[in-house]
Amino acid sequence: MPAVTVPSTLRLPRLPQTDPVADQDRPVISITTAPTGLEGEGFPVRRAFHGVDLRALDPFVHMDQMGEVDYGPGEPKGTPWHPHRGFETVTYMIDGEFRHEDSNGGGGLITNGDTQWMTAGAGILHIETPPEHLVRSGGLFHGFQLWVNLPSTLKFAPPRYQDIRAGRVALLSSPDGGALLRVIAGEVAGHAGPGTTHTPITLVHATLSAGASLTLPWQPDFNALVYVMNGHGTVGPDRRPIRMGQLAVYDSGDTITVAAHASQESRSPSLDVLILGGAPIREPVVAYGPFVMNTRAELVQAFEDYQAGRLGSIPAAHADVRIDTIDQEQS
Ligand code: MN
Repeated sequence: MPAVTVPSTLRLPRLPQTDPVADQDRPVISITTAPTGLEGEGFPVRRAFHGVDLRALDPFVHMDQMGEVDYGPGEPKGTPWHPHRGFETVTYMIDGEFRHEDSNGGGGLITNGDTQWMTAGAGILHIETPPEHLVRSGGLFHGFQLWVNLPSTLKFAPPRYQDIRAGRVALLSSPDGGALLRVIAGEVAGHAGPGTTHTPITLVHATLSAGASLTLPWQPDFNALVYVMNGHGTVGPDRRPIRMGQLAVYDSGDTITVAAHASQESRSPSLDVLILGGAPIREPVVAYGPFVMNTRAELVQAFEDYQAGRLGSIPAAHADVRIDTIDQEQS
């Protein structure tokens, strides 16, 4: 897995030992299994939050694990141009490459361990595709896309694009060196990651060696979720079993505990998890397709604005992709 790795966790800053008496270790409320589906032009995803009440996910609304898939030549797929309004997308690539381009002039190629933040805000059109050379060669493709909601006061904020290179994530280790933590956004025990979202969140990719246990301090006012991307282990103080493709929702408290089974599959010798949480927004969520709004009227308005071209237009260099459907005169 070519997300950022280190030869040894022993040289990294260590998380502090948590206090099992003073700190309330968050109990686990639910464990759900992500169903598989197809996104965009047909790339395989796992719907990580499927079946979980939005109030437990708040401030998040949606997360897809993209892949992991090993494409043959000519097989890699992306999305066509499409709109968004009312939230932010966070895309974290582990294997492979994804090219982003948007109607606001943002764009870039993200690859192993890079993160891309897009604030759709008032409205944006974008496209996400594997680069041409990867389409030709095929290869491994694995990443995540997380949707972070915006409060009503920021739903119409100007769109924004941030590229976060893999080298900028904050690397930490658990006190005994058994777990590597990559802080992508927010902070853990005072170690801040590079990502900035309008809505305060913390996003961590942790790799636990077989048999390792991790208890990390977590902001008491944030919700807490753990999604397993590979391997198997346990979550919470009651050590409930969890495996690849499952999501744990934690209750309130001060710390989060995850542990890796002593034996893992030979294909993925460690337990890899995304640990995420944020400050709940506690507003009504009316979401449909690419829009996440507060009311049904705002949702209708979003569709009308999109149809009228008010969410932006596809840059001229890409106009050819619309010839068949939109503008016959250009052909
Ligand atoms: Mn999109």
